[in-house]
Amino acid sequence: MDCIFCKIARGETESEVVHDGTDVMVFKDLHPKAPVHLLVIPKEHVASIAHLEENHAMLIQKIIYTAKRIAKEQGLAGYKLVFNVGRGGGQVIDHLHLHILGGWKNEEERAINV
Ligand code: AMP
Ligand code: ZN
Repeated sequence: MDCIFCKIARGETESEVVHDGTDVMVFKDLHPKAPVHLLVIPKEHVASIAHLEENHAMLIQKIIYTAKRIAKEQGLAGYKLVFNVGRGGGQVIDHLHLHILGGWKNEEERAINV
């Protein structure tokens, strides 16, 4: 399948990998919208939150738990977790991903970024 995040998951496209697990992967966003901007993806191709099936419950748990763990490892005092869902929700890449955004110095900087 010609999906950029599937290619990243398979190691066929360059990315700055932060975590490479069995089912999930974390890498730096190419166009960061915050001082720290990471993406957590399942290695399996799931198009979006709107495409989740009941059997994905463990996978989504892993995505969120991984985000929490990586945010702590990155030393983020606080952060935002964002799923864009569908074009109307600002989703551009149709492979499920959770944005981790953080690292702002203060509230003003955060307000400008997100
Ligand atoms: P979304 O709007 O939720 O679909 O977000 C897609 C995100 O993927 C954007 O923040 C892009 O900057 C990011 N992105 C696109 N291509 C790549 C890539 N090859 N490597 C890392 N991040 C990417
Ligand atoms: Zn994919």
